[in-house]
Amino acid sequence: MDVIDIHLHIGTKENWTPWVIDFFCKNNPYFYEHFCDKTDPERILLYLNSQGVKKGVILAEYAPKATGVVTNEYVSEFCKNHKDLIPFGSICLYDGRDILEQARYAHETLGVKGFKMLPSYAHFYPNEERFFPFYEYLQSKNIPVMFHTGISIFKGSLVKYADPIYFDEIADAFPDLNIILEHGGRPFWYDIVSWLLTRHKNIHVGIAGIPTRHLPEYFPQLETYQDRFLFGSDWPGVPHIKPLIEKVLALPISDSAKEKILYHNAKRLIGI
Ligand SMILES: [Zn+2]
Repeated sequence: MDVIDIHLHIGTKENWTPWVIDFFCKNNPYFYEHFCDKTDPERILLYLNSQGVKKGVILAEYAPKATGVVTNEYVSEFCKNHKDLIPFGSICLYDGRDILEQARYAHETLGVKGFKMLPSYAHFYPNEERFFPFYEYLQSKNIPVMFHTGISIFKGSLVKYADPIYFDEIADAFPDLNIILEHGGRPFWYDIVSWLLTRHKNIHVGIAGIPTRHLPEYFPQLETYQDRFLFGSDWPGVPHIKPLIEKVLALPISDSAKEKILYHNAKRLIGI
């Protein structure tokens, strides 16, 4: 079965804060040894293929207070000439640049195919009005946007910004904007995200970082809303990706749901 992993972090020691590097060192020695000092797309693709992943989404982030900085230019360059690596941009909120201009440049010039936003790492509420022209732009171009929701282990992240309740307003104001809530509001907001799925057809759940075997318990409508769940690993935050794919394949849901979660939903949303 083909797999798209929508949640991959690429960078070296120069990109990540010291506590993130410490975490990789303890939790993913393979990454620490092979990719932490130097990384390149060819070796990442070989690694992804060895894990059963056909295509991977590479995420930018601007979060110097929490995890680090991986620029839109970096992910764009990294994915260039590699059709199986898909760049997702982000928005830098600390240097005064216009949000909409950044989005336009990232999509139209750098070629990013989606955006990832980190409210709890970059300290903002996703429903602040300053983001509305950005959401309007993404909706008009049919570009998906992913948000980190729920807790994080990293110093500098503030959970008050990671409450998924704000997406009720955004999904309502931008009904054709495809929104992916990563981590499903883990662990104490699963019920809010579950409700959002029933309320808004443009809300999706990225399953990275949710204990896979408990998915049917946290999201009892997993089978019903099989078009709205997307596989991601959060590698290198986990040691390897293959065991996560195997856990999805072992879920007590239909084969069609598994195929959609692992591949087709991401393909449709990103337009690849
Ligand atoms: Zn992540």
